[in-house]
Amino acid sequence: MTSIVVLGSTNMDLVAFVPRAPARGETVTGREFRTIPGGKGANQAVAAARAGAEVAMIGAVGSDDFGVRLRAALDGAGVETDLLRTVEGASGTAHIVVDDEGGNAIVVVPGANGTVTTLSHGDEALIGTADALLLQLELPLSAVVAGATTARRLGVRTVLTPAPAQPLPPDLLAATDLLVPNEHEAAALTGIADPHSAAAALLRDVPEVVITLGARGSLYAARDAAPVTVPAPRVRAVDTTAAGDTFVGALAVALGEGRPVPEALSWASAAAALSVQREGASSSMPYRAEIDAAHGSVTGLEVDAV
Ligand code: ADP
Repeated sequence: MTSIVVLGSTNMDLVAFVPRAPARGETVTGREFRTIPGGKGANQAVAAARAGAEVAMIGAVGSDDFGVRLRAALDGAGVETDLLRTVEGASGTAHIVVDDEGGNAIVVVPGANGTVTTLSHGDEALIGTADALLLQLELPLSAVVAGATTARRLGVRTVLTPAPAQPLPPDLLAATDLLVPNEHEAAALTGIADPHSAAAALLRDVPEVVITLGARGSLYAARDAAPVTVPAPRVRAVDTTAAGDTFVGALAVALGEGRPVPEALSWASAAAALSVQREGASSSMPYRAEIDAAHGSVTGLEVDAV
């Protein structure tokens, strides 16, 4: 079984559904409120576990009630949380206002995530047992860099989702094997809007890139192979929250199993397409059998000419 370690964030998403978002100084009455376990790290961990990997999570939750629920959500998904710290204070929270047009405004308060600045010997040893280390940018950069460089030293493949978008330090790029931005993050990193050109620019820093293109699918580029584009299955999307995290989790599992890149991409696309057809973040993520079934019906793989 593929073994994956995620070094990343856990957040409680506090979601208010409102007819329209309030302006400054204004109060509006919302229709509904939900608390949903999330955070990019935890979401990728759940996605990879459901896709069939053995997954462990490194990060931190707070000593509050949210921390108990965040840990329980990971445990319930079969993610090992022995090295998920509980630290004094608040868990990470994301305060999300969703309006009737589906637009949203979000405040993220890192809370416990902000305390993860270094790795313990135990964290490093765990990373050394993995086939891949999944990283995002919702923990302090010092921890992300430490994780990537540790994985690189121990021969573990590193998969970095550069979100939320921010400039990447050279030592992080140098220790990244596969960079998976969405098209907005790719444009922010390179200043280039066209995904093919942005991918080419990113290959100066990392050996492999996958740019996700929402409903248009995804694009793979590598220094030593022809680019591959995979269209997304045509589905009726009801909630695209965590589509990218579902995609990355499934992609890491497929690559960890040694499947060829085009097949891994189309399998990850099938997983992400399933998740957008259901409401929720981690709750919408598909299980392996569902991905396999959906993948069987995916067609239209295209391989670009160089
Ligand atoms: P993020 O969620 O990080 O913003 P994207 O929007 O690019 O990333 O979505 C990630 C992946 O999820 C896409 O590459 C695609 O495979 C899948 N996906 C997203 N939106 C849709 C959609 N409307 N229909 C089908 N697949 C989708």
